[in-house]
Amino acid sequence: MNKMLVDISSIGHDTTAHWLIFSGERVVANKQHSGWLKATWQDLPFVHHYGDQIINIGEFGGLACYAIDVGLETLPLGELDTMSLRGIFLSNNEDLFSVAARAWQFILFKRTHRFCGQCGSSMEQVDWEMAMQCHTCKHRCYPRVSPCIIVAIRNQDRILLAQGKSQKERKMFSVLAGFVESGESLEEAVHREVFEEVGIKIKNLEYFSSQPWPFPHSLMMGFIAEHDSGEINVDGHEILEAAWYELDEMPFVPPNMSIAGRLIEKTKELISNKKALHKQG
Ligand SMILES: [Zn+2]
Repeated sequence: MNKMLVDISSIGHDTTAHWLIFSGERVVANKQHSGWLKATWQDLPFVHHYGDQIINIGEFGGLACYAIDVGLETLPLGELDTMSLRGIFLSNNEDLFSVAARAWQFILFKRTHRFCGQCGSSMEQVDWEMAMQCHTCKHRCYPRVSPCIIVAIRNQDRILLAQGKSQKERKMFSVLAGFVESGESLEEAVHREVFEEVGIKIKNLEYFSSQPWPFPHSLMMGFIAEHDSGEINVDGHEILEAAWYELDEMPFVPPNMSIAGRLIEKTKELISNKKALHKQG
């Protein structure tokens, strides 16, 4: 098993790696290489200041990926730039987004677990796995992952799309999503969220796929379902509007890089296939 915490002396000075260096909530990026900061540590003079705090987050394209948190320090970036995770997501760079998202989860975890929740002593990073441990009481913590369900619902030839508060400004509509509560199964969470947000009952719930979502530490678990009963009735707080949309009158929806976008694509495909079958029949 690879060490999670590596010392700079164990990385060759001429070894090229991908560096994910977080300053505040932004990652240092080389926009000339689609954001990837591919370099040896000698190319990055500030790295050796953090030489005993390098987190090994795995590999991408045959190169090791290392994360460093410089906190609120401003770095002498020269030709380099910084990007937010959302910026990387919106730039449609799926590979960099996935690696940077993983790095950010670890860094956020370290920042928020400096002290033990049980006895208040300082915590230290365990070097063989991603964990923080208290040396006084041995309490150990792992990065938080918050399960969320996301569901695309169809009703005959139409799909349910809703606009939440946070989507109003971007004029975006999407499928429904919500956090799983303690003691709840994923299926129970889907039925509850759908009923709470739009007041309908659903049926034929099927698992679709999942996506880690680093805003800030969710794991989106996607489902597709069909309308069973009830009329749309939004709460007006979390969800501002919701309606059934025909495929040729779709509003602005999330890109396919997000699971929401893929669920919408899948539902459109299911509706089109059914229409085609209907025509043949
Ligand atoms: Zn403790």
